[in-house]
Amino acid sequence: MAKSLQGRFQVTVLEEGKEFKPFSLPVKKMASLRKTGVFFDERLIRAVLPNMLVEKTSDMVMVRGIGVGGTTTLATGNAVRYDGALKEIGINLDEEFEELYKELPITTDHQKHWTSTTRDMFDIFKEMDLDPIVTPKFMNAAKCVECGHCAIGCPTGAKWDTRKLIEEAVSNGAELVTGFKVTDLEISNGSVRAVHGRHNGRRATYKSDVVVLAAGGLGTPVILENSGIECQKSLFVDPVLCVAGPLEGFRQDRQLLMPFISQQDGYILSPYMDYLSYFFNKDWRLPMENIVSIMIKLSDEEVGSVNRRRIDKSLTAADKIKMDEAVEKSREILERIGVQRKDQFLGTLNAGHPGGMLPLTNKEKDTLHNPFLPDNLYISDATLLPKSMGNPPILTIMALAKNISSKIK
Ligand SMILES: Cc1cc2nc3c(=O)[nH]c(=O)nc-3n(C[C@H](O)[C@H](O)[C@H](O)COP(=O)(O)OP(=O)(O)OC[C@H]3O[C@@H](n4cnc5c(N)ncnc54)[C@H](O)[C@@H]3O)c2cc1C
Repeated sequence: MAKSLQGRFQVTVLEEGKEFKPFSLPVKKMASLRKTGVFFDERLIRAVLPNMLVEKTSDMVMVRGIGVGGTTTLATGNAVRYDGALKEIGINLDEEFEELYKELPITTDHQKHWTSTTRDMFDIFKEMDLDPIVTPKFMNAAKCVECGHCAIGCPTGAKWDTRKLIEEAVSNGAELVTGFKVTDLEISNGSVRAVHGRHNGRRATYKSDVVVLAAGGLGTPVILENSGIECQKSLFVDPVLCVAGPLEGFRQDRQLLMPFISQQDGYILSPYMDYLSYFFNKDWRLPMENIVSIMIKLSDEEVGSVNRRRIDKSLTAADKIKMDEAVEKSREILERIGVQRKDQFLGTLNAGHPGGMLPLTNKEKDTLHNPFLPDNLYISDATLLPKSMGNPPILTIMALAKNISSKIK
């Protein structure tokens, strides 16, 4: 959005966090501290990965990125087009996706570098008719060293994230203000006049002609609420649960995260080494090289909310039925890999795809602008998505942003 609008407008990006910093301790060294009991709460992860904000609901750990590049800096680089729900309400983003495929390094070339572990897992998925597809990734595959650190700071720069777009916007004249937490908007006569917030702790204001909120599925609804605009209680988060087990020397830790995915009805399955569970879940006591782990990512019911005090989200009865089915499927995969059921264990229920609290509907298919919003206020993040995906949303959010930026211009 910032890159696209800069030039036609003078863009100022107000970003709560700072520049991205990768994991600050060697993973092995940190692993040796697990015995001491210092890792008793997932929220402590920020001490070693400052851009990762972890919050808790009654039964889920919510993860998001606070900093330049947002949550894309923590992403595993999956670049999946998933716009079925948008198509259903009449929004066609074919052109925008075409442009993104030309502009961004999206590739499946990483398959050439797969380890034998990844290839074996892929074959098992095929044998089980799970129709695995090689995950298209935002990356330069030639630079990937299969270290498995995609989500904690790619050490070689193989993974692409949206910091590159911010850099381009800034080199074209946009201003990037970090450490600025937007709190609310000043609205009068149906227009936004200014953006209020705290800059490095002090109250500050920016006057504005046009405002685009892109604080993510948990950030944008709070700013709207503080500005007197209510969202819906239709938060989705795509809950994640890993099913894992012991396998001596399997070395899934030396693998690109989520190298392939199997898209089932209502969830996806993919190999994934779960760092949060590894450090904070007492059932994950083995060395990382001896753990095999399958991720379930669920498309959850759109029931939940966030406000300035708390996140209200838990699995519904329907979510639990779907999750049980996915766990059973994952247990079967692990058995085929060689892990007996009695040795299998679960990870921590977590989620990192929040959105949906001001969903687009058929009525806004031509404007992509909710009529309850002031005329010069747009939203451009996962808050707009009409349904949970249970799939990687970045590419689809970017296609939407492209379309919205054309409308703003
Ligand atoms: C571990 C992990 C791995 C993932 N892997 C993938 C993947 O491989 N592929 C994929 O498609 N998706 C992935 N996702 C999900 C994806 O990263 C997010 O869904 C996506 O980035 C959401 O985009 P967004 O623009 O809505 O919000 P975000 O990317 O979260 O951006 C919000 C921005 O707003 C800033 N902000 C928030 N509040 C304020 C405020 N009050 N004032 C100022 N700034 C504020 C934040 O710092 C951030 O920069 C992953 C998520 C996680 C947690």
